[in-house]
Amino acid sequence: KSFGEIEMCEALNENIKRRKYVKPTPIQRHAIPIVMAGRDLMACAQTGSGKTAAFCFPIISRILRDRFDQVVVSGRNGARTRIAYPTALILSPTRELSCQIHDEAKKFAYQTGVKAVVAYGGAPIAQQLYNLEKGVDILVATPGRLVDMIERERVSLKMIKYLALDEADRMLDMGFEHQIRKIVQQMDMPPPGTRQTMLFSATFPDDIQRLASDFLSNYIFLTV
Ligand code: AMP
Repeated sequence: KSFGEIEMCEALNENIKRRKYVKPTPIQRHAIPIVMAGRDLMACAQTGSGKTAAFCFPIISRILRDRFDQVVVSGRNGARTRIAYPTALILSPTRELSCQIHDEAKKFAYQTGVKAVVAYGGAPIAQQLYNLEKGVDILVATPGRLVDMIERERVSLKMIKYLALDEADRMLDMGFEHQIRKIVQQMDMPPPGTRQTMLFSATFPDDIQRLASDFLSNYIFLTV
């Protein structure tokens, strides 16, 4: 099966061809249709399996599809600072992984109008805030830095429709559970069931299963 046989936006398929991805990897072949169909997903995926594209492709594609019936919402905040309203959030444990995901998202969102921005700790926050101010659809972030930005009221998660947690087991090992729960709480806006969530993890211990049952609804479990 080729990428062309998986239902996604044409602009994205052009970029996939341009980047010479011909055949989807097993995780991509199975995960993309599930996400495109609007279902929550818990997936077992190792580094090198192509998991990044498995969540980036359907997120880009669904954002483009949403554009057709998008309502323009104007911010109510004052003139002092601008609050960014991403519609997709990808959480990852480290700066390196966040940058890799951001690169992949940027490559495949090329010329589609979908904008990806990255935010991670251990680097000055000013440039990252400036990037957010210029507009963002997909925010790729490490949990600690994102909590900081939320507390500074520079980013709001109230418009998030797509949430992906990458290497969730590693994020818990690094002690991010409290931050992750705080972040997800920010998105739980009524009406319920409007957020679509994807959880990727190499292992499935009890704490990951608890996250899945707290964050996902009626999800499909995928191991490849
Ligand atoms: P990941 O597991 O997401 O870190 O991806 C591992 C590597 O495989 C990355 O360098 C990707 O650019 C590459 N890759 C992912 N999917 C495909 C594909 N369908 N065809 C060719 N290369 C791919």
